[in-house]
Amino acid sequence: MSTTVSPAPDNSGGVPVFRYSLASATGKVTPGGWGKQVTAAELPISQDIAGVLMRLEPGAVRELHWHAIAAEWGYVVEGQVRVTLFDPEQRISMEDVPAGDVFSFPRGYGHVIQNSGTVPATFILVFDNGHFSEFATFSSTDWLAHTPRNVLAETLGTPESSLAGLPAGEVYIVPGPVPPPLAETRPATAQLLAANSCAYRFSQQAPERYAGGTIAIASQLQFPLSSTITGAVMTIDPGAIREPHWHPNASEWFYVLAGTLQVTVFASQGHARTDQFAPGDVCYVPRGLGHYLENTGDAEVRLLLAFNSGTYEQIGLSGWLAANPRALVATNFGLPETTVDAFPGGTEYIAARR
Ligand code: MN
Ligand code: MN
Repeated sequence: MSTTVSPAPDNSGGVPVFRYSLASATGKVTPGGWGKQVTAAELPISQDIAGVLMRLEPGAVRELHWHAIAAEWGYVVEGQVRVTLFDPEQRISMEDVPAGDVFSFPRGYGHVIQNSGTVPATFILVFDNGHFSEFATFSSTDWLAHTPRNVLAETLGTPESSLAGLPAGEVYIVPGPVPPPLAETRPATAQLLAANSCAYRFSQQAPERYAGGTIAIASQLQFPLSSTITGAVMTIDPGAIREPHWHPNASEWFYVLAGTLQVTVFASQGHARTDQFAPGDVCYVPRGLGHYLENTGDAEVRLLLAFNSGTYEQIGLSGWLAANPRALVATNFGLPETTVDAFPGGTEYIAARR
């Protein structure tokens, strides 16, 4: 089956490259798993969002760490992870997060991720700062390796000799046994954070349906702890178009989970760029720039999106034109009013193939 795809506008300049093949990056590989990242270093346009694709073997731990310059938001693609957050009020939130669900760690808070399932876990991490580096986090083993043993012995109330086995440097990801069920291991104090949990059952949320696809959005409204990052899962049917739109308040980042699509970004002054996306690719659109997405394949497109704001905002072409007087729109575009009369009466959002 063939699909109708708009001709590409000229890529004569003015819009930097906005695609990066994250899945095919090398990343950091360890016996317990690996991490691959896309930051402003790999994708210079991406100044205010960074992303990571990570895999952990069953039982493996992405070690206790924190980061100074970014909050973290995660989406589980396959398997299950156990996330634990420690906040400045000395509270613990610990949750198992299966595929399709999400988690959040506010900027600067201590956290750890363990594969609590029996199969490898794959997940996507998003950070609200393009200059974040997954390979430069404040890792606990790195910290302890650079703290004198007498300081650690005094702090932890143990003889220096008992600390001889500490790692000599950052372990990053460490292999380990699969942990017992959550109910058996979660500290009782974890209930303190239940109302502000670090996990959200996103897979249970019903998506909004449009003529050409669906979207489920988890903003701060649905997931209160995630106050600086909104996540979404979008599907686009074959031949359908996520209509031309922009986001007034946030930059957009997405990872292609399935399908193939074409993305065009408009940067004013006649500048536009179109690129082709496949599974494992990342797209970044700066705040305020116009853009649209076209499913160019014969299968459904499935995207994991993130925005660097806890509030979701978008303005789409169809709804904007529908809200204005038809005579004004006709004058603006030099079109007969009869043509404008036939435009949609409201927001298309995701338009089906016509
Ligand atoms: Mn982290
Ligand atoms: Mn968008």
